[in-house]
Amino acid sequence: MDQPPDIDKIYCPNKNCPDFSILGKDNIAVRGKYGKNKDKILFYCRTCGHRFGQTHGSALFGAQIDPETIRSIIHHAAEGVSVRSTARLLNIDKSTVNRIILRVGGHCSKILSNLLRSIYMTEVQLDEFWSFVKKKETSKIEKEKRYEGATGVWTGLDVNTRLLISSWVGGHELEDARKMVIDLISRIEGEKPLIVSDELPHYATILKEIFHSLTPFPPIGKPGRPKAPIKVIDKDIIYATVKKTRKKNKIIKIERKLIYCSNDQLNKKLISSDSFTINTSFIERSNGLWRLWDAYLARKCCTFAKNIELFKAKLAICHASYNFIRPHGTLSTRNSHSFNPITPAMAAKITDHIWTYDELIRKCLLA
Ligand SMILES: [Zn+2]
Repeated sequence: MDQPPDIDKIYCPNKNCPDFSILGKDNIAVRGKYGKNKDKILFYCRTCGHRFGQTHGSALFGAQIDPETIRSIIHHAAEGVSVRSTARLLNIDKSTVNRIILRVGGHCSKILSNLLRSIYMTEVQLDEFWSFVKKKETSKIEKEKRYEGATGVWTGLDVNTRLLISSWVGGHELEDARKMVIDLISRIEGEKPLIVSDELPHYATILKEIFHSLTPFPPIGKPGRPKAPIKVIDKDIIYATVKKTRKKNKIIKIERKLIYCSNDQLNKKLISSDSFTINTSFIERSNGLWRLWDAYLARKCCTFAKNIELFKAKLAICHASYNFIRPHGTLSTRNSHSFNPITPAMAAKITDHIWTYDELIRKCLLA
């Protein structure tokens, strides 16, 4: 039987209620029980009279499968176990596994979008990696809204907290990079961070699009149409790139380049960052680990995704698991007597504890 929730941690989910999303107003009461076995609690708000179930806003809302099975499926998915293996291990059908991954993947996307806001960042690293859906050749069939083939995963990570701020699944185009970068920038609080990426020109283009002012050309005193104003990049943007040259799969040369900043600006930022120099090693390390966490991304293996929606859902589950559930080796502190595990979300002060998979699927979202 499902555990009864703590009434002090429940708020009214009715957006028209004066006590919407406010805790500690003593407005929530138990109205009765519901469900097939009458094992779920029905709450009601004394302020507005709205009734709601205990799973309202969570990934369990309306689910026909018991919470423990859902938790197990998600735990397997976030540990790199393939869909068929999960189905065999839990003795359920693989279509059930896919259905739960889609359901919880959508829930995790909302959690990430809602909670990763207003984050103070010192250095952000951007990167992209490639995988494929169903087949290696690209084909987009707009009419059927079906996407197959080579797929780009764009990611942005905060170096000091190791928090994976944004991820975007799409193609390889400028537009795909733009979606990830705009989403990441919308989550920055306070000063703009140092931004570092590989030499892909998309990032410089997008940063200039976002952070610029228009300077008009001075009149030249001649007839004719005046020249269009020029875009001048904002002075507080600090952007640098790393170019790696490889030969026979070995890096033979690394070139570090300042694109939109001065050496002084860069050095000031590096003092408070975990980086000692311009690098992309933090995000590359994180992207490398994705191949372990997500069976769809494993190389030279037949566990690849069969459709784009499942690919996105699994990625969102792994993304939430990395930020909220897995203690990070570098962030965690240990000595001979104790181990103090810390997740990236704890380092970024988004939460004060390590989440469990049960907490992840039960997290109530109102938006
Ligand atoms: Zn209410």
